[in-house]
Amino acid sequence: MTRFEDLHLIEPLLRSVREEGYDRPTPIQHQTIRPVLEGRDLLGCAQTGTGKTAAFALPILQRLQSVPIPQPRHVRVLVLSPTRELASQIGDSFARYGRYLQLRHTVVFGGVGQNPQAQALRLGVDILVATPGRLLDLIEQRIAKLDKVGILVLDEADRMLDMGFIHDVRRVIGNLPKNRQTVFFSATLPHDIMSLAKDILKNPVRIEVTPPATTVEKISQSLYHVDKHGKFPLLRQLLKDPALQRTLVFTRTKRGANKVAEQLNLNFVKADAIHGNKAQSARERALENFKRGLSRVLVATDIAARGIDVDGVTHVVNYDMPDVPENYVHRIGRTARAGAGGIAIAFCAPDEREELHAVEKLIRLKIPVRPVPPGIAHPSSGPGGSPLPKYGAAPAPRPHPPAATRAAAPHPPTPAPAHGAPATPAAPPQHPVAHKPPRRFLWRKRHR
Ligand code: AMP
Repeated sequence: MTRFEDLHLIEPLLRSVREEGYDRPTPIQHQTIRPVLEGRDLLGCAQTGTGKTAAFALPILQRLQSVPIPQPRHVRVLVLSPTRELASQIGDSFARYGRYLQLRHTVVFGGVGQNPQAQALRLGVDILVATPGRLLDLIEQRIAKLDKVGILVLDEADRMLDMGFIHDVRRVIGNLPKNRQTVFFSATLPHDIMSLAKDILKNPVRIEVTPPATTVEKISQSLYHVDKHGKFPLLRQLLKDPALQRTLVFTRTKRGANKVAEQLNLNFVKADAIHGNKAQSARERALENFKRGLSRVLVATDIAARGIDVDGVTHVVNYDMPDVPENYVHRIGRTARAGAGGIAIAFCAPDEREELHAVEKLIRLKIPVRPVPPGIAHPSSGPGGSPLPKYGAAPAPRPHPPAATRAAAPHPPTPAPAHGAPATPAAPPQHPVAHKPPRRFLWRKRHR
C-alpha cells in the first residue's frame, strides 16, 4: 500500500501530514499528488469526504515552495470554490498542511466586509481561495490581480453550475494567463461541466474515485415511509435515542430548515439551521456550535451543506428526499468522512416516492424500510408497527450482494408480498409508480 513517503513529498509536508494523523494517502491522494506535482492538468471526479483537498493542496504547496518566493509576492495559485464554507475550509487546509512552509494564503468571499480581504491581498499572498462573485468585484476594483496565476483549482464545479456561478467562473478564468496548470474537481460530470472542462483543460489526467455506488457502502441506511405531518414527530422520537449525538438533518427548502430547527428548540433539542439566506456570521456560528457539540442537530439545505467538513457526524437524516438523487449521496457522505462508517435515515412522504426511486436507482440499493413507531402518521393504514429499533446499535440489514456484484446487477425488484397479506404490515408499497403525481423537480428548483 502506498505511503505518503512514496509520493515524493518534501519533509515539511510529510511532517504536517503526520501531525494531522493521516497514516496513508486516500485513493484520490494516491492518484492525484504525483500528476499535480509534475505540472499536469487534472480532471477529478470526486466529492468532499474523499480527502480531495489534501490531494491538490499538498502538491501545490510543494510546487510553490520549489521556486524562490517572488518579491513582491503575487497570487500564484487561485482556488475557486462555490461556497464560503468550503472556501474557508480549503483556506484552513492550506494553512494546516503548509504550516512548515513560508507561503501565504488568504480567503475571499461575499457577505462580509471587503476591507480586510483587500488589505490581505495588498500585503501579498501566494495562494488565493475565493468564491467567484466577490473575486470578480475585487478584480474589477483592481485589488485582486491574477495575471501571474500559474495554477488554477476549480473545486466542486458541478455545484458552481447548480448555484448559477458558471458564467462568473468563466469570467474569472478569462482574467488568468492561458499558460497555466488547471486542476478541476467535480462530484458529477453533467454535459455543461464536461464542456467547461474541455475548454479549460489541456490533455488532463482523468481520475475518478468513489463513484456514488461505493461511497454508500459503508453507511448503514434505512427509510421510513411517513406522512408529511408525521415527519417532525418521527424526528423528535428518533432524537430520544442518545446515539443520535451529532445529527445533520437535510430539508429541501430554507423555510423548512428554519421551521425544523425552531420546532426542535421548542422541544428542548438544541438545533441550528444553516442555509443561503442566513448571514455569514450566523452560518459560521451555527457550524461552530455544531462542531463543538453545543448544538446536537444542524438543519441544512443541500447547497449550504455541501462541503461542510464536520468530523464525527453520527447520523444524517433526510427529512425531505432530495430533488437531485446525487444529493442523497452527498448528504449521507457527511456521516462517513474519510472512510469512516455512519448512519443515514430517510423520511419519504407519499409524494416523494419518485425521488426515492431515483435515489435507489442511483445507489443500486433498495434502502431497508423500518416500521414507523405507533402514533405517527404514515401512509399505510395498518397498525403502528414494532417498537423503534435503536440507532447506533447494529446496522440495518443489507439485503444485497456486495458492490462488485451489485454494480453489474439490475435494480433489485421489491419482493412480492404473499397474496392478501403484506410482508411487513407497517411498510407501505414502495414504488406505486402507476399512481404517482407529476414530477415537481422544476417547480422546486425555481422556488428554493
Ligand atoms: P476532504 O475530502 O478534503 O473534505 O477531506 C475530508 C476529511 O478527510 C477531512 O477531515 C480531512 O482532514 C480528512 N483526510 C484527508 N486526507 C486524509 C488521510 N490521508 N487520512 C485520514 N484522513 C484524511
